[in-house]
Order: sequence, then structure tokens, then C-alpha cells
Amino acid sequence: MLDKITPKHSLQPTVSPSVTVSVIVPVYNEQAVLPSFHGRLVQVLDNLNERCEIIYIDDGSSDNSRNIITAFPVTSSVVQYIALSRNFGKEAAMSAGLQHAKGIAVVVIDADLQDPPELIPLMVKRWRAGADVVNMKRNSRAGESMLKRFSAACFYRLLNWMSDINIEENVGDFRLLSREVVDHINELPERNRYMKGIFAWPGYKQVVVPFNRDPRFSGETKWNYFKLIGLAMDGISSFSIKPLRIATVLGVLIALSAFGYGSIVIAKTLLFGEVVQGYPSIMVVLLGLGGVQLISIGLLGEYIGRIFIESKQRPLYLIQEVVEKSAIQTQKSPLGEVA
Ligand code: UDP
Ligand code: MG
Repeated sequence: MLDKITPKHSLQPTVSPSVTVSVIVPVYNEQAVLPSFHGRLVQVLDNLNERCEIIYIDDGSSDNSRNIITAFPVTSSVVQYIALSRNFGKEAAMSAGLQHAKGIAVVVIDADLQDPPELIPLMVKRWRAGADVVNMKRNSRAGESMLKRFSAACFYRLLNWMSDINIEENVGDFRLLSREVVDHINELPERNRYMKGIFAWPGYKQVVVPFNRDPRFSGETKWNYFKLIGLAMDGISSFSIKPLRIATVLGVLIALSAFGYGSIVIAKTLLFGEVVQGYPSIMVVLLGLGGVQLISIGLLGEYIGRIFIESKQRPLYLIQEVVEKSAIQTQKSPLGEVA
């Protein structure tokens, strides 16, 4: 089958003609689900009629995930196992996958079978029809609590209102990206990698395909509310400076109202000779102002913290080991490579 296009302004010729579709799977302690996941994925890819590679990025798993993946039998798809040196987080794991993918279309999929691998042929079809980014949008969030659904809805609304790019609601990381888009994403130097925003940032022809998200096959989600709040802060602060602007506007409004209120107090004293009274109102103003100031300082701190992290220029992840299995060759190379 003919490869679609050569990237028009791809920054590095990373395309290997031997692979058409790369499937990136971030893995963090997924031993219970990996055999079923791999079985379903391989079956789908075998019927796809494209040259495929599967890249498992082991994000510092402490369970048996490594042995399970490296013991998978050789299939028609190339299977690559890349182990990061510790848990760097899903965003870093996905970045590692994008940097190592050789295909001219790259699919990102979770290992927990919440994203059905059976949808990959449809994604490839949409890409063949001209789409650069195929976003998979969840219709249902089966198996997730009301609170999680509600907080997710609020977060997307807030993020889109705050940031300049349009981040599609209920689209997770499950998506297909063309080589051109992947090359541009790989060129983004930032350390704060809010991937949903980064996937949307290059633009290009984006399509949205709805699907029903399954509940987690087994095990527990790796996210807790504390981590999710961090992710939400990352999302907003790496794509928008609106919170800073809101703090400024709020400051101006409060200063103006303080001026207004002060004028009233002075006028009352001058006109009616009213003695100053009102300990409660002073407390309210004091606490209110103090709160606004603390929030604003916190916000400033968030952005300064990000500048601090960016300025250190540390690598996003370290790779400890790479194992590749294909029908042609089997090789194992422990690497001290730095991404
Ligand atoms: N994951 C990862 N590193 C982490 C956390 C998660 O690579 O630090 C992987 C995990 O193995 C799974 C995917 O990211 O394949 C999604 O994780 P999870 O199901 O916990 O997230 P959710 O589906 O609840 O958003
Ligand atoms: Mg999941």
C-alpha cells in the first residue's frame, strides 16, 4: 500500500518506510490487563493490512509488566518495549513514545482497555481520508463516578474559556496523529507537557469521532483527585495567562470599590458627624483583601514555578532499556540514552 504523503515541512526525516502505523501504549503497573490488551491489539493490527509497530512505554512499573511484555510472542507487528528509568508520568511516557515512533501515522492508546483497540481501523480510515488528527471523543464515561464526570465537565469548560486553543471536551489521549503533526509536537521544547493541549496546539485537519469508553478492565485508575487538580493547573497555566489577568482585574475592582466605600465613610463623617464604627466591616474588608492577595500571589507562584522548571532544561525522561521484537530480528540493548 502507498504511504500517504511525505511531510511538507517535517523537521527531521524520522519516517521509516518500513512502518506505517505506530501504536504507542504507556504502561504503568498494568500486569493484569496486558495479556488481554495485547491479544486484542494484535488481532486488530493483523487484520489492518498496514505495516504496524507497537511501542510499549514502561513508565517505571514495579509489577510484572516488563516480563509480560518482553515475553509476548513475535507477531507480524514489530513490538518494542522501552523502559523509562522511573515513573515520569503518563505525559512524559507519551512524549517518549512520540519521539520513538517511526510510523507515518501514530496512535496513542491506554493499556487498560478503556480505549477499545478495535477502533484503530476506523481511525486509520479517517486518516487515509485526509485527517491529520483523529480525536476520539467519549460518549459515555462508564465506570466513572458522578463526581468525576461533573468535575471533568467543569474543567474542560474552564480550560477552553481560559486558553486560546480549542481543546475538545471529553477527548482523552486516545487519538491518531499524522507524521507531520508528530514532528511538530516533538519539536516543542517545554517540560510542562499537558498533552491534551499539545495535541491540539499544531492545529491541522482535526476530526472528532465519538465512541463509548469502556470501564477499566481491571486494576485501579492511577489518578487521584490530588493528581487531577495538578493536571488541571498544568493545563490552564501552560496554555493561558488569563488567570493573571483575572487577578489584575479583580485587584482593580477591589481597589475601586475600596475607594468608593472610603469616600462614603468620609462623606458621612463630614456631613452627619458620624463617629467611625464598625469593627465587623473592617474585618470583612481585611480578610477579603487578604484572601484575594494570597490567591494572586499563589497564581504568580504557579507561573514562576513553571519558569523555574523550564529554565532547568532537564530531560523529560530517561530511558533505561529497549527491547525490540520483530519477525525479522530480535535485539536487546540496555541504553543510558537521554531523550
Ligand atoms: N500511566 C502511565 N504513567 C502513569 C500513570 C498512568 O503510563 O504515571 C498509563 C496507564 O498504565 C494507562 C494510561 O496511562 O495505560 C491511563 O492511565 P489510567 O487508566 O490510570 O488513567 P485514566 O484512564 O483513569 O485517565
Ligand atoms: Mg484508564
